[in-house]
Amino acid sequence: NLNLIVQIQVAQFGTAQKVIMVRDVTERQRVEQMRQNFIADVSHELRTPLTVISGYLEMLSDADINPGVARAIERMTEQGDRMKSLVNDLLHLSKLESNNSGSGSVWFELQPLCAISIDQLKSYIPTSLSGEKLPGADIHCDCCLEIEVLGFADEMSSIISNLITNAIKYGRREGEAAQVNISIENTQNGVEVAIADKGEGIAPNHLMHLTERFYRVDESRESTIGGSGLGLAIVRHALEHHDSQLKIESILGQGSRFSFIIPAERIRHKQSEPMRSML
Ligand code: ADP
Repeated sequence: NLNLIVQIQVAQFGTAQKVIMVRDVTERQRVEQMRQNFIADVSHELRTPLTVISGYLEMLSDADINPGVARAIERMTEQGDRMKSLVNDLLHLSKLESNNSGSGSVWFELQPLCAISIDQLKSYIPTSLSGEKLPGADIHCDCCLEIEVLGFADEMSSIISNLITNAIKYGRREGEAAQVNISIENTQNGVEVAIADKGEGIAPNHLMHLTERFYRVDESRESTIGGSGLGLAIVRHALEHHDSQLKIESILGQGSRFSFIIPAERIRHKQSEPMRSML
C-alpha cells in the first residue's frame, strides 16, 4: 500500500522551450517520515520518567539534608529542567514538521501577542550552566502598528519568544545587560517584525547554519548558557506556515538583527480594509 511520491520541477529556456523533471522521492520521504516519528516517539516516552525524577528531586530538596547533598540536588534539578526543555523543543519541532500543510489558520492580533511575550521575558535572567545568574535585558519595543495576522497565534508567539530569548541570552556584552529592540513596521510586501540586539554578533560563516537542528555557534562559548540548538529550527518551520522566512543580519562586535516579513495577503489592518485580497 505504498504511494509513489514524485517531485516535479519545470525549467524554462527562453520563451519556447520548457524542461520538466520528474524525480521519485518516495524513499527519501519514507526515511524522513521515520525520522520524524522516531523523534516524536522518543521525546514523548522521555517525558514521563523525567517528570517522575523531577518530582522525587523536589521531595528530596524539601527534606532536612546536609549542604553538600542540597547542592547536588540543585544541580540535578537544573540538568533535569534542561532535559525537559530539550524534550519539549524536540516534540514541538516534530509537531511543526508534521503539519506541513499549515492548515487551520485563523485571524489573530499581533500586537497583544508581542506584548505578552515581552512581559513574560522582561524579567528573564539567563543562568549559566554553573548556576551563575547573568545580567538580564533592557527591552525596547516600537510596536504601535495594530494589525491582524492570518496564521497560528501559538506558533507566532513561539517565534517571537524564541527570538527575544536568544537576544537576551546571546545579544549581550560580557557582564552587561542585553539591549534588545523590537519593531513591527509596514514594508512594501507586508509587515516586518524585527528583533535586534547590540551583542557580540555572529561570524558570517555561521549565519546560514543557524536554523539547522542542534546547531550552536562556538560550543565552548555557548556552553556557559543553556540551550538545545533547536530554537531557530522551530522558528524556521513556524515561519514556513506563515509563508515567511527568517532573515539574519549580524556584524561582529556590533550586534545581530533577526527579522521576517508577514506577507500582505496574511495581514489586515485593524478596523480597516485588508491590505490586499485575503487568502
Ligand atoms: P539555542 O539557543 O537553544 O542554542 P537556537 O537555535 O535558538 O538554539 O540558536 C542557535 C545558535 O545561534 C545559538 O546557540 C547561538 O550561538 C546563536 N544565536 C542565536 N541568536 C543569537 C543572537 N541574538 N546573537 C548571537 N548569537 C545568536
